Amino acid sequence: MTKPILIVGGGPAGLAAAHSLATFGQPCVLVEKADRLGGAPILEGYAKLVPSGEWARDAIGGMVERTAGHDLVEVKTGATVTAFSGAVGNFTAALSNGETLDLSAAILCTGFTHFDSANKPEWGFGTYPDVVTTSQVELMISSGQGVRCPSDGRKPQRVAILLCVGSRDRQIGREWCSKICCTVSANLAMEIREELPDCHVYIYYMDIRTFGLYETTYYWRSQEEFKVKYIKARIAEVTSDGEKLIVKGEDTLVKRPITIPFDLVVHAIGMDPNVDNPRLSAVFGVDLEPHGYIGKANSYAATGLTNKTGVFVAGSATGPETIDDSIAQGKAAAMAALEQRQLAARLVS
Ligand SMILES: Cc1cc2nc3c(=O)[nH]c(=O)nc-3n(C[C@H](O)[C@H](O)[C@H](O)COP(=O)(O)OP(=O)(O)OC[C@H]3O[C@@H](n4cnc5c(N)ncnc54)[C@H](O)[C@@H]3O)c2cc1C
Ligand code: SF4
Repeated sequence: MTKPILIVGGGPAGLAAAHSLATFGQPCVLVEKADRLGGAPILEGYAKLVPSGEWARDAIGGMVERTAGHDLVEVKTGATVTAFSGAVGNFTAALSNGETLDLSAAILCTGFTHFDSANKPEWGFGTYPDVVTTSQVELMISSGQGVRCPSDGRKPQRVAILLCVGSRDRQIGREWCSKICCTVSANLAMEIREELPDCHVYIYYMDIRTFGLYETTYYWRSQEEFKVKYIKARIAEVTSDGEKLIVKGEDTLVKRPITIPFDLVVHAIGMDPNVDNPRLSAVFGVDLEPHGYIGKANSYAATGLTNKTGVFVAGSATGPETIDDSIAQGKAAAMAALEQRQLAARLVS
């Protein structure tokens, strides 16, 4: 009987990897540190996903059901891997809950950590209660509460969404584009306008990266159909006059200072490397790439190879990724692990 393959992390990438392996008759053990599966979309309470428009609880909840319900998938929540040793086809892992597992390979699907907006204090987060993050607005919508100002529960009349918070910012050591936040923000802006038709929504941007097919359905639709206003700007600070939040900056198209009052300011937060990555690197013997994500080899031979034979990686553990791409990478890493096993079996026979 083939030893199980270990999958670490039960988000979209890990769920896809586990489901693929199980479908091919390969047993696997899915170890998740949170108390439930689903990754960021479920743990953070995302609302409607881009680009499908489906509620995260239905789309990713469906993945959780299909995967956890499979006979060949053993799920261990509330656990982490504390030690990992051996060689391809013959690894041993120790779990934080005291269990030991014999395994043939491992796939790291440990995802990302949301940027902590407290690292951008000049933009008001942590100082003013009505400065929030995109994750918080997603949760307001998905919980059914609706978009409100946390300070007093009122419906905002003017909302500013500030893009690239914790991304593309050399001053705070984040030299990457988080890929999805322009599209997520355009989507949120439309959802706010739908719920509060009298509310004015402004998006402050450096560049708009609603990449690929998202340009029509998010960037143009948000302006033409939902009247969301886009301002190309460099933001200096977010302050308060005691009544309104004040966003100060420079309109970089006309090169003039702009100061606009708002009720609610939303930080479109980026995707940081998982804070666990140094520990994961030490336990699994995998190298991190220079930004702190888990390093992966090029994909020409197989997808999701790390520097350690028998240990694979998929999804946003490797850098900012969309859900669709994380799922695709999870499946590709599952295939790579099966291919490796097949090659090893041929060498032995
Ligand atoms: C505000 C916001 C909104 C977004 N909305 C969308 C959207 O609408 N559409 C879209 O395509 N993308 C969206 N994204 C991106 C999306 O969150 C990611 O693409 C997706 O979550 C990546 O899936 P993943 O499985 O790689 O990682 P995650 O979803 O991060 O899952 C990783 C899992 O691993 C677990 N884990 C972490 N460390 C360990 C450890 N040491 N041991 C065990 N388990 C561990 C975590 O608890 C988690 O369950 C959004 C991102 C943000 C910030
Ligand atoms: S996707 Fe948009 S908001 Fe996100 S980092 Fe890239 S340019 Fe900035």
